[in-house]
Amino acid sequence: GATIGILGGGQLGRMLSVAASRLGFKTHIFEPGANPPAGQVADRVTTAGYDDIAALEAFAASVDVITYEFENIPTEALDVLEDHKPIRPGREALRVSQDRLTEKDFLSGLGLKVAPYANVESAQDMDAAVAQIGTPSILKTRRFGYDGKGQARLKSDGDAAPALTDMQGAPAVLEGFVNFSHEISVIAARGIGGDVACFDPGENVHKDGILDTTTVPANLTASHRMDAVLMAANILNALDYVGVMGVELFVTPKGLIVNEIAPRVHNSGHWTQQGCTIDQFEQHIRAVAGWPLGDGSRFADVVMENLIGDNMDRVPEIAREGNASLHLYGKAEVKPGRKMGHVNRVTPTKA
Ligand code: ATP
Ligand code: MG
Ligand code: MG
Repeated sequence: GATIGILGGGQLGRMLSVAASRLGFKTHIFEPGANPPAGQVADRVTTAGYDDIAALEAFAASVDVITYEFENIPTEALDVLEDHKPIRPGREALRVSQDRLTEKDFLSGLGLKVAPYANVESAQDMDAAVAQIGTPSILKTRRFGYDGKGQARLKSDGDAAPALTDMQGAPAVLEGFVNFSHEISVIAARGIGGDVACFDPGENVHKDGILDTTTVPANLTASHRMDAVLMAANILNALDYVGVMGVELFVTPKGLIVNEIAPRVHNSGHWTQQGCTIDQFEQHIRAVAGWPLGDGSRFADVVMENLIGDNMDRVPEIAREGNASLHLYGKAEVKPGRKMGHVNRVTPTKA
């Protein structure tokens, strides 16, 4: 059978491996860190850095297609891999999403609404950005931010200087604060032939900058639901995308605003494991393997709750709950703020 190469051995790589294995594929994980969660379920693991060209070449030689579970893969590593095997989703999706400024330029270029934003690479830029965007606003590092890390909030102009200091010289964007009523995401898939299928939008609640719960169905009007799906399809088509993408949106009285995109399976799509016949992980594997997309229509109401380091003591109690599907990632070390697992609480959708 064919082998799927996965860059990154975290929980997303682990759940991709399980889905791939269920379809009869072998999986090979490439991960610099020791004992990755995905390593427990994959057929093969290479432990090496993204600067190890020989290891990258050997990895590429051993697989049929390369995919990834995170977007911050160094460009030089991609250059090496790309000479040997197809990388799906393709390079353009990575180029766009590795940098918040590039991403926002791309999204607004498609005619999609984003928060007002300005590039900040110096104290002068910061003054100009605050003059243009005003406060309240959020300064976000352009690269490598996740779980709300690398962000500083400005309540008033006086917060500008300390926020800039927080960035430690890294390029950033200042974003106008969006007064949203709630946050949603669309998990969208595009197949190798260009067909697009979206999962039902989920409603997301964050706690301390980390996703806490995703609820389906989201509290959305029919027209917003349609908008969300059309916006996601627009993004995937523009990138000639192959695979699953997470599109985060803010719901406002004036319509939907795109917050950010993630060119991979997404934490807010974990509910699909119990809500759909084909979940986001299988859908991604199908797409990158060139299979037809599967049926991702939703047959249950689901609330996904993340199990973060600090609330792991609740696991024995959750294990006794009815209609609760527990997913644990096999991470040895429990740390505050670390994603250890999630639970999908399911109720059948009323006809
Ligand atoms: P993720 O873990 O989703 O990748 P991240 O670190 O990339 O997160 P964002 O998604 O940009 O960060 O922001 C985290 C959260 O902060 C958002 O989900 C939202 O709740 C809030 N937020 C971000 N940008 C804005 C904004 N412009 N206006 C209001 N709230 C915002
Ligand atoms: Mg992000
Ligand atoms: Mg986000």
